Amino acid sequence: MNALVFDRGLQFRADYPEPRAPAGESVVRVSLAGICGTDLEIALGYMAHSGVPGHEFVGRVTETSNAELRGRRVVGEINAACGRCASCIAGLARHCATRTVLGIVGRDGAFAEYLRLPDANLIPVPDSIPDEAAVFVEPIAAAYEILEQVHLSRDHRIAILGDGRLGAVVALMLKGEKYLPLVVGHHPEKLKRLADLGLATSTDASTTDRFDVVIDCTGQGTGLSRAIAIVKPRGTIILKSTAAEGANINLAPVVVNEITLVGSRCGRFAPALDALASKKIDPLPLIDGSFALKDGLAAFAATANPVNFKILLKP
Ligand SMILES: [Zn+2]
Ligand SMILES: [Zn+2]
Repeated sequence: MNALVFDRGLQFRADYPEPRAPAGESVVRVSLAGICGTDLEIALGYMAHSGVPGHEFVGRVTETSNAELRGRRVVGEINAACGRCASCIAGLARHCATRTVLGIVGRDGAFAEYLRLPDANLIPVPDSIPDEAAVFVEPIAAAYEILEQVHLSRDHRIAILGDGRLGAVVALMLKGEKYLPLVVGHHPEKLKRLADLGLATSTDASTTDRFDVVIDCTGQGTGLSRAIAIVKPRGTIILKSTAAEGANINLAPVVVNEITLVGSRCGRFAPALDALASKKIDPLPLIDGSFALKDGLAAFAATANPVNFKILLKP
């Protein structure tokens, strides 16, 4: 099959073996896949993943022993857990120590014509949600994880640091849930697009402003320091970025100002699907192009170009 494969470098291959479903797993034909910052890191070799990257997708089940999934249009939770360890039994399968992660850890991903995942990970998509919206379920779910971890109040002052893909999705989620975040970024044309979607934006948070909650979506090692500088005493910083670089950070203000730091990664898909079905969130304005797999390198270059939000692959 056609696939993008990372093995020291990213390359297109037309001869990659098709996945077969072992017991308990199904094969999905990928209709659309989204490229995110994690994929760019994988393509640079930062995550030690070799094989097919890609973890944001929508597709149709083509091979399964599960009658409820046969032929269904699905999205998929990316963490494939063991189901037996203490984390799994406690309901924290996303923290299973021996998990594989679609396109990230030990499991081929979505930048291919076919992928496989455990049946338990696959979730049918309601007909009312088009593929172009369903492909955003994974990052929207990651945005909703914030609401499961931190109690936000409607009168909290909330700043989102970063006007990239992640910041935009977090901002649309919070707006959909009737919060009023301020998106702080460096790219005027992207901030303009977010403002056109009804979001408050700023190119500068180094004012005397202080925020109850600061969400770091910068994807950079400097994000945490910037967040510490603008959060109120007793405020909360939510770290959404998995920045590849290390950062030399003065944590003294975290102690002095009694700041809460929360790391936040993947989330449940159900709230994201509900939000798309009810049109609380419309991610379509974030799409800046779609590419065939054979043009995958150009798609990655477009994703790395800071003028773009979301680039899709169409296997
Ligand atoms: Zn991602
Ligand atoms: Zn487990």
